[in-house]
This record gives sequence, structure tokens and C-alpha cells, in this order.
Amino acid sequence: MPPANSVFAACGTTIFETMSRLAQACGAINLGQGFPEGLEPQPLIERLARAAQEGPHQYPSMMGIPALREAVAAHERFYWRTGADAAEVMVTSGATEALAACLFGLIEPGDEVIVFQPLYDSYLPIIRRAGGVARPVRLAPPDWRLDRDALAAAFGPRTRLVVLNSPTNPCGRVWSPDDLAFLAGLVDRHDCAVICDEVYEHLTYDGTAHVPLMSLPGMRGRCAKIGSAGKIFSLTGWKVGWVVAEAALLAPIAKAHQYLTFTTQPALQAAVAWGLDECRDYLEALPATLAARRDRLAAGLRRAGLAPLPCSGSYFLSADFRPVGFRGPDGDFCRHITEAAGVAAIPVSAFFDGGGPTHLARFCFAKTDAAIDEAMARLQRHFG
Ligand code: PMP
Ligand code: GLN
Repeated sequence: MPPANSVFAACGTTIFETMSRLAQACGAINLGQGFPEGLEPQPLIERLARAAQEGPHQYPSMMGIPALREAVAAHERFYWRTGADAAEVMVTSGATEALAACLFGLIEPGDEVIVFQPLYDSYLPIIRRAGGVARPVRLAPPDWRLDRDALAAAFGPRTRLVVLNSPTNPCGRVWSPDDLAFLAGLVDRHDCAVICDEVYEHLTYDGTAHVPLMSLPGMRGRCAKIGSAGKIFSLTGWKVGWVVAEAALLAPIAKAHQYLTFTTQPALQAAVAWGLDECRDYLEALPATLAARRDRLAAGLRRAGLAPLPCSGSYFLSADFRPVGFRGPDGDFCRHITEAAGVAAIPVSAFFDGGGPTHLARFCFAKTDAAIDEAMARLQRHFG
């Protein structure tokens, strides 16, 4: 038998890869994996071409190029009033690497880590590989409301970390200031830290405001706040992310990062630095564009007989497919519509560590109007 680590050997291939491969094989419109279409800012792509021509092309500092660290700090101060400065920013190869660096850097074997389900798929394998013990707190559909008693009960003497994702993938929930304040009280009382996965920070709708936990009283030194240029600029293949944290919290995270990737491609960093400074109009226009697409998708799903759930953030909408009469679980439904209707989606139970709801499919609405319309026409024809 070849060697294999038991944590990773027990994992399947990610649902995003699985569904994208199936979509491609079936010629389906891919509303599954979360990658935008038709939203890429052209000036930023041109800037990358220029930066690639000009170089340099050797290893940047492991903390990131100064221009990007400055730009991330300025972006933090301008939008989120976190008061971050450049020394508190570390550039990573996407938010996925930032999450891994935080978890590997901050967990001791046996430490308990509170997570909220549904959750992004990389959290649990990395927590476990780091020797941590995940303590899941469930949010239940259709409104995914926080059960405060369950959250309080999840904290204990071994709790060291919380992983918080807001706006939330896949349920499109944005944490309210009240729930954040409740969480902050517990974090303070139990003397732990929070990894704040805020990759959808600019994608909130209908007047809902994104509030970083880090901006709450007492939370500045307890939070490691993660961002992603791939999400901010609808360029998910770029894989440039960052962690913002006070020096004492950032230091162990940087120790892990230096052995994971060490650094990130310099021309991409230079282009993202320029974009954060110069493309604010793009960032500020995006929520209105995406809210319109969300509504277009929701209306189409309703016409096809599905029941969409509310979504106030991220670019994902979940829908209950039971009204169309499909009797199987969500994985079967998503495979079925990919193969038989030519529309791919993601089963929401994949965001649970077993036992999640099995009647919901997640659709990405960061797509062109034409793609959304054609996908919805296919579902309507299929379900008659
Ligand atoms: N966190 C969440 C909640 C996500 O949805 C994603 C999606 N890609 C990531 C992290 C990873 O971001 P990146 O592509 O920058 O690694
Ligand atoms: N975050 C993306 C999603 O939820 C996918 C990222 C990935 O494929 N690893 O669809």
C-alpha cells in the first residue's frame, strides 16, 4: 500500500471539481462552482499584462509586495474601519491558503474549533489535519438563523478558535450586528481567536451591511480577517488572498504560510494592488448588478417550480426542489439536472459533515443574463 494520510485519504474529490467536470462532460450550463462570468474588470486584466511584461519575476517577500500590503490596509480602513496598517497584512495564494495558514498556525493538537454548518469545504479537513477538534454549530434552513444557546453550549475549556464566514457560502446569510456582538462576548469570555472568512465582503444586497467582527469593541486583536482578490474582482483563477491581523496573532500564521507556499506570484500582486486603489467604482457597482442577477435567477427558478430561499449576501442562491416532485436527495437532484436538463448546481448537504438537509440545491448567479435565462428555460422545459 502506498502511504496516505488518513484525514485526506478519507476525503472525496471536492464537490466543486466533481460537478464542474460533470457539467463539462454533459455540455451543461455551470451554475454550480462559484466562478463569475462576464464580470471581469478589463482594466485590471490589462494591468496584469503590463505588470507581467515589466517584472520582476523572482520571489517576493513572504509577507507580500509592499504595494499590495499597503493597498489591502487602505482598503480595510476605507471600507471597514478596522484601522489596519500594512505591517498587519500578509499576502497569500488565495483565501484557501490563508485559511490553511491560519488553522495550521494557530491550532495545537486537541484544541477545539467552533465552526458553523453549512461550511466551506476546506475548513474541516484542515482543522483535523492540524489536530484540532471541530465543534459544529448548525444553522437550519430556510432562514439559517443562529441558535444562540447552541453557540454558547459549543464553547468550553478547550475552545481556542472560531471560524466565521460572513457573508456565508452557501446560504447567502449575512451575520447581523446583534449576532456578531453575541459571538464577540463569548469569544472574549473564553479568551479565544476568530478566523473571519470574509471573501464575499462586498457582496451584500437590499441594504444589508457587512460588518467585520474585527470592527467590534475588543475584537481587533482576536480576529484574523481573510480576503480574496479572486472574489473581490470576479477573477477566481488569480488566487491572491490575504490575512489581516495584529502582530501577535499574525506571527504564527506567517510561520505556517512560509512553509505552505512562502509567497505569491508578483505580477498578480502588483495588479491587485492597483485594482484595490483604482477600481473602487467597480466594487461599488457590483452589488446592484448581482442583486439583479439574483432576482433574475430566483424568478426563473420559481417559474421552473422550485422554491428559492432568501439571499442577502454572496453570489449563491439555494432552492428547495421538492415542489417539482423530485424524490431523491440533493446529490441525485444535482446530477440529474446536470445530465438530463443541462444545468449544473451544487448539493447543499456537501457543506455539512453528514446529516445536512437534502432538499436544497445551490445555484451561482454571478453569470451572464443570457446564461441564467438559458439555464432557467432548460429547467422549465425539463420540469414541464
Ligand atoms: N472561503 C469561502 C467561503 C469561499 O466560498 C471560497 C471560494 N472560493 C474561499 C474561501 C476560497 O477563496 P480563494 O479562491 O481565494 O482561495
Ligand atoms: N468557493 C467556490 C464555491 O463555493 C469554489 C472553490 C473551489 O472550487 N475550491 O463554489
